[in-house]
Amino acid sequence: MIRKGMKLYSILFGACPKCHQESMYVNPNPYALSVTLKINDTCSHCNTRYRMEPSFFYGSMYVSYALGIAFAVTAFVVSYEIFESSLLTAFISIILTLIVLIPVIMRLSRNIWINFFMHYDKELIKK
Ligand SMILES: [Zn+2]
Repeated sequence: MIRKGMKLYSILFGACPKCHQESMYVNPNPYALSVTLKINDTCSHCNTRYRMEPSFFYGSMYVSYALGIAFAVTAFVVSYEIFESSLLTAFISIILTLIVLIPVIMRLSRNIWINFFMHYDKELIKK
């Protein structure tokens, strides 16, 4: 369903946006909090530099804001509409959801951001 070559693969798994052969991150687990945002300098397969320019990933803050809103709205709808909780409980569920998902949101936003600028190239795998 989601396979190498699809942008969604690189976004969901943090794979190199050009070859999809390895993780961009030093540790693929986002909950290894000390290295959550540590990104390798280059891909060992295709030699792509992940930081195209200094402070490249600052732009991912815009994506992170949108993702945060999406997760917050989802938490609210699930809590308030589906489980029919009070407004206070729905608010608490939003806060807890955002706190628990901070590492995932930060990584997803970086993955989406880099995939705006880099695209899969199957020629790189053959090399
Ligand atoms: Zn690569």
